[in-house]
Amino acid sequence: MDFPILDTNVYNHRLVYLDNAATTQKPRQVIDALTGYYLTLNSNIHRGAHYLAAQATERYEEVRTKVQRFVNARSSKEIVFTRGTTESINLVASSFGRAFLGPGDEVIVSGMEHHSNIVPWQLACELAGARLRVIPFSDEGVLDMEAYGSLFSPHTRMVACAHVSNTLGTVNPVREIVAIAHDHNVPVLIDGAQAVAHMPVDVQQLGCDFYCFSGHKMYAPMGVGVMYGREELLSQLPPYQGGGEMIKDVTFERTTYNELPFRFEAGTPSVGDVLGLGAAIDFMLAQGIENIGRHEDELLRYATERLLSIPGLRIFGTAPHKAGVVSFLLGEAHPYDVGTLLDKLGIAVRTGHHCTQPIMDRYGIPGTVRASFACYTTREDVDALVAALVRIAPMLM
Ligand code: PLP
Repeated sequence: MDFPILDTNVYNHRLVYLDNAATTQKPRQVIDALTGYYLTLNSNIHRGAHYLAAQATERYEEVRTKVQRFVNARSSKEIVFTRGTTESINLVASSFGRAFLGPGDEVIVSGMEHHSNIVPWQLACELAGARLRVIPFSDEGVLDMEAYGSLFSPHTRMVACAHVSNTLGTVNPVREIVAIAHDHNVPVLIDGAQAVAHMPVDVQQLGCDFYCFSGHKMYAPMGVGVMYGREELLSQLPPYQGGGEMIKDVTFERTTYNELPFRFEAGTPSVGDVLGLGAAIDFMLAQGIENIGRHEDELLRYATERLLSIPGLRIFGTAPHKAGVVSFLLGEAHPYDVGTLLDKLGIAVRTGHHCTQPIMDRYGIPGTVRASFACYTTREDVDALVAALVRIAPMLM
């Protein structure tokens, strides 16, 4: 494993990078794919008659097939490239909202969603005169499935839920969530931003209708993401943005639209970043996604035990099924102060509400300190975090 940035020194300390839920670092293969594109292939795709355009198009479409296999979609038509999870969810909420949401309708989201899986639905609901219903969760950070079942009504049109909570680490029972929604003939969007880099994802097995994720949280460059949409439903959605490759014919009277998936890829895509995503998938498959998950699981258990040995430290999110995310508070210290002092010791964590303000409201806290793991995280990194917390605790408590 070669992650050049991990050799960085921060204030004369070895960088201990524990902010992987925000973005992962990139292995050399991904950086090479990105620079290789600009060094040897740079060209706009799909519409060029020349050699470079044909090569770039072929490589771009190869990655689409790679992503299709990665999440086990039935067809590459179901894979739409976007800028990231946020854009993927906005695409679905906007298009689905225009086609299927009306006055009095309801969209179910969970109480532990990232703002990116709340606000797009609020916007769509506002336009349609619809409203959000929210699945509550327990103090441990487990969704209340009984309450979920009782939220359905004849007006429910969509369920949108995170596969893994970026703040609590909870791995939600996505198959069950989908099965219950489908019993009510309601489609389901899964926000997979925090899942794809940590566990194998099979959209057919999950049964979901949409699955959204970001490249930059799975060792790929920033600027690329994926929206998987089940073909039957995707083909019924109106376009999201207009222009570029999304058309078949344009006249001033009327425009007809391209077939899937191009109908949803308006304008010039971030081709180099897509090729980087392909390299990131190759990297993850070479490591073995189950191996990555096992490694992070073990670190999670180790970190949880060691962190809880620090007097006054509280962990938020203690579900039995968690991914490699630990949110905590040190006594009454403000998370920002903890993060700032950790930074001075070379330790990169995230502090604040993590774009999940409703979770903070649920616990009545301003934010947390969050340490999150990746395939390159080590026990030494966890030890460094614990040692630093022990060192700074007397200054803050
Ligand atoms: N959903 C979840 C669960 C996330 O953790 C994030 C990012 O932190 C997002 C959505 C938004 O991802 P992006 O900023 O890559 O669009």
